Amino acid sequence: MSYEGVLEQSGLGLRDLVKAGEEIIGYIYPHTPLELILAHGLTPSLMSAIPGVSSGFEESLQTFACSYIRNLYNQRTNEQLPQITGLLFPSNTCDSLQNLTDIWKIRFPDDRIYRLTYPVTRYANDDSAEIYLKKELEFLSKMIESTLDRPFMMDNYERAVSMVREFRHDAQFLYSARVVDPEVLSYTELSRLVRSFLTAPVVSVASEIHRVSMSVKEKMKSQGLLDIIDTIKSGFQEKDFSKVKPFKHPSGPRILVVGGMVEPQAIATIINGINGVSDSILVSDLLSFGFKSVFAPPLDKNGEPFEEMAKSILAAPGEPTQEGLQYRMSFLKDLASRALSRRSRPFFKRSCSRISQSVFSNSS
Ligand code: SF4
Repeated sequence: MSYEGVLEQSGLGLRDLVKAGEEIIGYIYPHTPLELILAHGLTPSLMSAIPGVSSGFEESLQTFACSYIRNLYNQRTNEQLPQITGLLFPSNTCDSLQNLTDIWKIRFPDDRIYRLTYPVTRYANDDSAEIYLKKELEFLSKMIESTLDRPFMMDNYERAVSMVREFRHDAQFLYSARVVDPEVLSYTELSRLVRSFLTAPVVSVASEIHRVSMSVKEKMKSQGLLDIIDTIKSGFQEKDFSKVKPFKHPSGPRILVVGGMVEPQAIATIINGINGVSDSILVSDLLSFGFKSVFAPPLDKNGEPFEEMAKSILAAPGEPTQEGLQYRMSFLKDLASRALSRRSRPFFKRSCSRISQSVFSNSS
């Protein structure tokens, strides 16, 4: 399927939700507290770029605004966005997003815009970033309640925590299983499943992912690989691969895609579009809408909700804002040496003003 077809599918997911009468809060930044929005009886949905959208109003944005931001803005000016209740923008993340929020508010003053401000950095043995983000989350919750008359409902929150936890549990297993055997589930299918959930975090989509995860588990169990997969999953969760058990790597080149807000489905389409190459060459990604969303730690239902959400967002892996570049690079080297097992060769492709996308590949 072409990338346009893939995007059409995720757009359909959002349109189906709107048709079903769901009230949607669109979000753009990967580390959005899905549980908070669901607790207010609303459905969070990740906004997509649509190829080929342009308008005469792009000049309102600064020159540094990335193509994703431009595309979203153009969708709005062309009235191509579905009917959504509101949009959640992040603050303190990148200049493009800040610019988009500012311009959007001026140009579309009747749109409901919410903003969640993230801490810029965090220091070891200092919980001030967590306290700060907890307060911001409480503030966002109050804003949603006062503007939409939708209070934070504890039973909605608990259901959301269970559903998102199950999604993360299953998707983390699938990511880890593909490191050992990328043929067990195509990267295209894995990224489609994750994208479906981020577009429509509803029980039916979580159940589909659970069914796929159960079937992959059966296959891996019959090959005696579950223990190894567990060590890889723990390595991803704890960002420490020292306890990963050795395993036989599939022959041929293996690619790990590293970057920021790049659509995993776009990467799959590019790789599958190369003559004689399939996406089984992709051992994993470290992308914001893939790995980083999947491996954010699930919440503890028994903890204080806002504190739990702040802790989970701040513990999402691979975020330079929260971890610092040096820490992130050593995580990457450790992962590349264990997941790819041989000497890795980086290729760089500039993808956004904030993070460069790099592809680590070994030579077979
Ligand atoms: S982080 Fe990069 S891709 Fe994401 S909005 Fe900012 S500039 Fe665009």
